Parts: sequence; structure tokens; C-alpha cells
Amino acid sequence: MTNKRYSNFITNCVHAGNDIDKETGAIRRPITMANSYRLPNDASTLDWSGTDELIYTRTTSANQIYLQEKLAVLEGGEDCVVLATGVAALSGVFFTFLTSDSHIICTNVSYVAVYRLLNEYFPDKYGIEVTLVDTSNLQEIKDAIRPNTKLIHIETPGNPTTRISDIEEISKIAKAAGILLSVDSTFATPYLQRPLSLGADLVIHSLTKYINGHGDAMGGAVIGNKVLIDKIKRQAMVNMGGSISPFNAWLIMRGAVTLPLRMEQHSKSALRIAEFLEASPSVSFVAYPGLKSHPQHELAKKQMSAFSGVISFGLKADVKTHNKFVNSLELIISAVSIGHDESLIVYTGPTDERNHFYPNEFKNGHLRFSVGLEASDDIISDIEQALKKCKL
Ligand SMILES: *Cc1c(COP(=O)(O)O)cnc(C)c1O
Repeated sequence: MTNKRYSNFITNCVHAGNDIDKETGAIRRPITMANSYRLPNDASTLDWSGTDELIYTRTTSANQIYLQEKLAVLEGGEDCVVLATGVAALSGVFFTFLTSDSHIICTNVSYVAVYRLLNEYFPDKYGIEVTLVDTSNLQEIKDAIRPNTKLIHIETPGNPTTRISDIEEISKIAKAAGILLSVDSTFATPYLQRPLSLGADLVIHSLTKYINGHGDAMGGAVIGNKVLIDKIKRQAMVNMGGSISPFNAWLIMRGAVTLPLRMEQHSKSALRIAEFLEASPSVSFVAYPGLKSHPQHELAKKQMSAFSGVISFGLKADVKTHNKFVNSLELIISAVSIGHDESLIVYTGPTDERNHFYPNEFKNGHLRFSVGLEASDDIISDIEQALKKCKL
């Protein structure tokens, strides 16, 4: 690792992980699209499954290393592993630290693949014990701890309810019981929230979202101490093959440079739009951690420096009208994902299998809105014209 760490986050976004290219003098490290690297003259003692040396792109690539250096600095961690997707990062953590005689406590509001893995796949195929709890309630976590609990996994803000969990207090509970704490911090990014400094052991990101920020490359990362990250590298990359393409690592490295500027704009616009929605008579509820009405607003203010760009809300309308609203939008695009430059919206109807975990107001379906980098005036005008078309 090149250990260039500046005291200001925004300077690290520009410089961390970058260097002068030794061969050409280019002031940017190049893309290395190669599957294999030349072996040393004496390869007999090489650790073929090692992840510190460049041997084969599945076991580590040059561009992956540069991005790992950048993200470790941005999260204030010792080491980082970058993988093909956010889900590869999450499953990498679960497969590395859970065994068939172990137990995990996980948030009951989480990314859908996590829910599926932990609710069906792990218990059914591997006999791993899983307890899903409301991680905004510390007592529920304490009550769920068993002698074989190995991991507590939280997501804050949670997708899609934007529920906030107290990283510092949960880390105290985990430490006292000798359990690892992993935090999916995708919605916040290291610009707004630093889980390791609050006591978490592992921070997980879908790089696909805000860190790349441009909706054109998928990736995932886990940041933590070297011992833990080394274990994940060997499992998730070398043995399970969830390695990132060098080109995607390069794109994400480039996107991450402007992370602070983008997060400022996403957060500022989203707060304004959330306030606009909350004041609208056509809107049944708004969930955004920056609103005073959010149940964990005070906690969000404590552990985040702003509230990012995802808002969930509902209309005082039926399923058909929700669909009509989405289809009437002209600027905002109906598509999954969050954290892109363009505004994206998804309507999830009341048939969502996780509905029973959601707060009551979500139970008739909800709109998850990722506020993009367009002018907030244009976004609000688009919502207004779509509501008008729906006679709301
Ligand atoms: C999108 C997302 C993921 C999954 O990331 P992929 O890159 O799509 O695999 C995980 N966690 C959260 C909170 C997400 O929003």
C-alpha cells in the first residue's frame, strides 16, 4: 500500500491510490487489462493463492490494488478488498466469517440479496442460524445474542426504509460479546459516515452506487483491518472468483475523485425535495433521515454529516395511480439502483415479500427515489407535472 494520507478527505479523494506511472511518467496510473503477470525467475516458493503479489487477475489486479488503496484511506481503514459487485462483497463477508455451526444477527431491513441469502440460502443449505431484528432497537440485538453468534450485520441508512442504526452503541454490544460488526454503508459513503471510527470491524460498500456515481460500472468493497480483509480476499476472490474487472476498478477510481462534490449536491437537493414532498397534500408519507419527522433523525445527525440522496415516499393513491405517476415522469427515470448522476425512481407494490418488516406507512407499497445531480427545481417541476397528470 502506498500510504499517502492527507488530513483532508477531499484531498484524499483526488490523490489517494494515484501515482506517477513509472514507465511513462504519466501522472495517472494506467489501466492494465491483462489476465496474467510475469512470474519471478524463481517461482518455486510463490504462494499461488496469495493476494499480495500480482500473479493472475482473479487473485488481484493492478487497478484493483489502486482502488483498494484509495478506499482504505477514505474509510480510515488498514486494508480493503475490492470485488465485482456489492453483493460479492456482502457474500464474501458472510462466507468468510460464518460456519455451519454459527449464528448471525442481521437487520430485517436490508438489501434484497442479503435478505434472500440469510433468510433462505444460508439456513437451508448450510445450517447457519439467522436472526433478523430491528437493529434500531438495541435491546432486540442484545436479546438475539447466542453463544455461537459470530457476526452482527447492519445497514445504515437501510434500504429502502432509510432506517438508521446506532453504529457506536451496536459496536459496544458486539465488542463486549466478542462478535464482529459489519456495516453496509452504501447509502452514506465515507464522505458522510465513517463506521470504523465508531467501532465497526468491517465496512461494506456497493461501489456501483455513489462511490462510482455515474451508473456505468459495478463493484463492491470491504474495508477493515488487514487480518480480516486477507481472509475475505482468499475466500471471495481467489476461491469464489468474485473479482472485479480492471476496467471497472479504473472507472470507479475515476468516479470517486468527485465523491465529496456529488454527495454535497445529492444531500442538498434531497433535503429540499423531501421537504417539498412532505408539504404536498398528495403525499402519504416521506422517509428521509434529514427530516425532523424521521424516527431516528437525531441519531442520523450524530453519526452522519449529511443525509445522502435517497428518499422513500408514498402517494395517497392506489397501485395503479402510483404506476401512472412513475410513467408520467419525464426527467426522473424508472429504473433500479441508486447513487447515479441521473434521478432514478422505483415503485415497489404491496406484494414485496419483506413488507411485514417495513413500518406501517410502507405497507401499501412505496416509491424509492434516488435524487440525482440535476437542478432540484427541474426535479420538483417534474414531480409536480406528474402529480397533475394523475389528478393528485
Ligand atoms: C445496491 C446495494 C447493494 C448491492 O450492490 P450491487 O453492486 O448491486 O451488487 C448492497 N447494499 C446496498 C445498501 C445497496 O443499495
